[in-house]
Amino acid sequence: MKEYKLFIDGEWIRSSDGQTFDDVDPTTLELIGKLQKASLEDVNSAVDSADHAFEKWSSTPAPQRAKILFRAARMLEERKEELARLLTVEMGKVLKEARGDVQEAIDITYYAAGEGRRLFGETTPSELPDKFCMTIRRPLGVVGLITPWNFPIAIPAWKIMPALISGNTLVLKPASDTPILSIELVKILEKAGLPGGVLNLVMGEGNIVGSAIVHHPKIRAVSFTGSLDTGKWILGEAAKEMKKVSLELGGKNPIIVMDDADLDLAVDGIIWGGFGTTGQRCTAASRVIAHEKIIMELQAKLIKRTKALRLGNGLLENVDVGPVINNSQLQKINKYVDIGKNEGANLVLGGKITKPLPGYFFEPTIFTDVTPDMRIAREEIFGPVVSIISASGLDEAIGIANSVEYGLSSSIYTANIRNAFKAIENIEAGITYINASTIGAETHLPFGGVKSTGNGTREAGTTAIEEFTEIKTVYIDYSGKLQKAQIDV
Ligand code: NAP
Repeated sequence: MKEYKLFIDGEWIRSSDGQTFDDVDPTTLELIGKLQKASLEDVNSAVDSADHAFEKWSSTPAPQRAKILFRAARMLEERKEELARLLTVEMGKVLKEARGDVQEAIDITYYAAGEGRRLFGETTPSELPDKFCMTIRRPLGVVGLITPWNFPIAIPAWKIMPALISGNTLVLKPASDTPILSIELVKILEKAGLPGGVLNLVMGEGNIVGSAIVHHPKIRAVSFTGSLDTGKWILGEAAKEMKKVSLELGGKNPIIVMDDADLDLAVDGIIWGGFGTTGQRCTAASRVIAHEKIIMELQAKLIKRTKALRLGNGLLENVDVGPVINNSQLQKINKYVDIGKNEGANLVLGGKITKPLPGYFFEPTIFTDVTPDMRIAREEIFGPVVSIISASGLDEAIGIANSVEYGLSSSIYTANIRNAFKAIENIEAGITYINASTIGAETHLPFGGVKSTGNGTREAGTTAIEEFTEIKTVYIDYSGKLQKAQIDV
């Protein structure tokens, strides 16, 4: 059995109290690794080591920091296929999606490395003569990164790379279901030349190890991706110590299909958005809001196409849908199907746990006759369940899209440019796609949501640097005399 250790102060070490936990393949239920579970003492050591490394790392010129990231990006590229296979084994998503997960990590690493020669501030004229004004960026200090299991390498990379290029030192806690890809990522950075202590990795239960990171007095900021409940709790706790927090939380993402849409294209998008990654994406298309004139035709096409999806081991190229991550997630999805049936929605496809292999499989599921007030139309299920809701026109469709507490991604299929622009203007979401599904973020654009999906930060793109830096405003007066702003003008 392969053993995986904690990474603290540049050393791979065992937990100080000898505790371990298991990592299981969700497809076969085979044990794939034994992982060291960090004690509170280990978390303290990790934070201390990051704190100690901060001065040197933050004063290393950003283009020099970037060289390490460029090397890491190249290593990730060289190992893409191997990492993708490992990711499918650890997390279950099918291989072509696992390759995409690794590719996102590669893309953000190159992108963040490029930022090493930008990290722009601003200059602007002063209102007074012989005075110069500018802003510069400073790192935050020691930052805690807490990540979920659904993008085992992309999400850690989305946080680590912009945080490193900005000059922060880090303590990473990956999800307990998928820590191995984070370990591989850290090993790559180590090999690329990252100095010891700059990035530390601890593993273990969120409510113990994650909580210790959130509460540690030397942690100046927390970047968290995960569920709304955990995010709310972290925000509340961190606020007590005035820590900066960035949250990327859940979604209940709609695809609106208008009566003028290309229905086959829309079905492609619904299948990809609803059942890709077995519905376990924060941007998954879990609601389809269909114009009443085409709803019957759309449903028929969607059911036919969904029936043809093949469940199984994601390592096989002909498999479309892998397992869900663990048993509690499987039971949660099952419970939501019961809730949907009890609420009066019409279960037209799937709805059951299935066993093509020993792991955690759930049939791709479609509910029709869903109304916006039903729980299956409002709450994040995080599984392969699509709810179809009818709307009489664009305004009603947008109203339904906006009627949930989340606001991450959204989409509209239409041939009418007016409909497209009205959707862009009026859907309450951080992302809107036109004639494309709700998933498919690119790393050089901001990523995040509104309402309960987050607290206003955006990952990736130039906004990734906003997340991990703070701005200092600088005034340089070279007049040689006392000049008073607002008074001497
Ligand atoms: P989760 O249960 O909130 O866990 C996320 C991470 O937080 C894990 O590392 C977890 O550790 C840790 N954690 C749990 N309780 C904690 C606590 N009290 N203090 C500190 N850390 C704690 O979420 P999940 O089930 O892994 O992920 C699914 C959720 O993530 C969905 O809601 C999905 O929409 C959301 N998500 C959002 C985005 C986005 O960008 N908006 C992207 C992907 C996923 P353990 O693993 O040890 O429990």
